[in-house]
Parts: sequence; structure tokens; C-alpha cells
Amino acid sequence: MDSAVEAALRVQIMDWVLARAEANGGFLHRHELLGFRIDGRDLPLIDYSRGIRNPSEFTSTLSIVSSAAGPYDDTESDDGLLHYAYRKGDPFGGDNRKLRTAMDTGMPLILFRKEQANYLTPVMPVYVVDDEPERRQFLIALDEAFRFMGDVRHLAEPQRAYARRLAKQRLHQPAFRTRVLLAYETRCAVCTLRHGSLLDAAHIVPDSDPRGVPTTPNGLALCKIHHAAFDQHILGVTPDHRVQVRADVLAEVDGPMLRHGIQAMHGRALTLPRRAADRPDRELLAVRWEMFAGR
Ligand SMILES: [Zn+2]
Repeated sequence: MDSAVEAALRVQIMDWVLARAEANGGFLHRHELLGFRIDGRDLPLIDYSRGIRNPSEFTSTLSIVSSAAGPYDDTESDDGLLHYAYRKGDPFGGDNRKLRTAMDTGMPLILFRKEQANYLTPVMPVYVVDDEPERRQFLIALDEAFRFMGDVRHLAEPQRAYARRLAKQRLHQPAFRTRVLLAYETRCAVCTLRHGSLLDAAHIVPDSDPRGVPTTPNGLALCKIHHAAFDQHILGVTPDHRVQVRADVLAEVDGPMLRHGIQAMHGRALTLPRRAADRPDRELLAVRWEMFAGR
């Protein structure tokens, strides 16, 4: 396939993936990706069984899947790059060849992070920026700029800090949102709103605090308004999962959003994940409650 045609097709594919992910709340179901069609023909965006998708008509890899539990785990190191292991077999043939072509051509690819079975968080565009045959791995960057930084294995500290910041914004935060939304079955913990595109994953203890880790027990699925109200300490949550609205806001008189959207939530119990391991950590809630009540 002509490289301009392939590049244009990738843009179309990425636009579609982005739109679907936004509608769902930041992730796609495996079936959506396998069922993708363009110009009247099937073009699955992931492979049925392998963690790499190399459409036969494409010169370069279209997507890779990384999973925390799988054999092809991406190792995120402190350089902020992803270390993607070679596929089994011939290091210069098969699937590895098209990843190497992606490095040479600079074609953007899609990284799908598998947070749990069947659900994938897209991270894109990503770029193959180096090949380490002695370690049987490719280095993958979240910004095209790394293609032009020279030796990415020995980056200076400012570039490494930039890569880590990118990894946090473009990899870890979206993955956190997916995990939390799935745990809460795509429902606001306060009001049970079910529109993924209107839901966020809120940190219970903010990520500026060392305890503010991006794990489900430190997360709450909240709609945009309740997330903002939670962050602004307009709304708090007690360690035993009761929603409390700040006294002065409770006393205000205003329209339906204040009355139904905020004041009516006062005293409600949070709607929590089914799995006990996904539920909010009591101690983290206590820390956050202190921040709300101590004001
Ligand atoms: Zn809500």
C-alpha cells in the first residue's frame, strides 16, 4: 500500500477509535475493535489472538496490545518509554519486521492497554523509536519528538522527566480511568449517572500526595459535576460512604442543578463496586474526609 494512503487510513482509524473511546468513557470493548469496518470491508484493529496487529496490506504495525499479566508485558521503566518485547521467533522476520518498519517510516501506531479481559484503553499515537536486539525489545515513545532526540537509551534528565510526565498523562491516567469506570460499571458513585463520556475517575487522596496512587481503592467514578464538586470540597464523602454537602451550599437557594444535582445528594450512600477489592480504601477516605471537614 502506498505510504500516503496508509498514513491517511491510520488517521481515519485513530479518529474513530478516539470517538468510540470518548463515548464509552475512555476504553473500547474487544468486539468493537474486532468488528471495525472501513470502506465496506473488515479491518480488525487488534488481532484475534496475538498482541500485535499487522494488516497484510500495511507496511508497518497498526497496533500493539500490552497487558500487565500477559507474556508480552510492556516494561515501563524510569525513562518513561515502553519496552516492548520482541515477538517470538525470528527477530528479523514475522511480526518484528513490521515493527521495525514502523520505526524506519515513523508511522504512528496505537497502543492498547488491556486493563482487564475484553476492555482496552487506547493510547495514541505512539512511535517505535529504537530497537535493542541484544535485549530483544523495541523502545516505544508517546511523542514523536523522541524520534529526533538521538540516542533514546541515554537521554539527559530533562528529556527523561518529560517522558515520565507524558507517561503519567497519556498512559497512567487513562488506564486509571478505565479501571475505575469498569469497577463502578460506568456509573457515578454519587448520582449513578451512566454516561461514560460524562464520567471521570477521581482520586480520593489527590495525586500530589504520596498516598495518592492511581489504583481503584484510591478512586471514585464520578460524573463531571460531582468530580468538580468533590475536588472543590463542595461535596465530601465520609469514611462510611455517606455523601455530605457543605453547609453553606446546602443553605443556598438556586435552580435545579443546585437543588437536584447537589443538595439532593446530601446523605446519600455511595454506589460502590461489586468487588470488595475495588471499593474505596477506608483510610484513604478518612484522609480525604479530614481535608473536607477540616475546612
Ligand atoms: Zn454524579
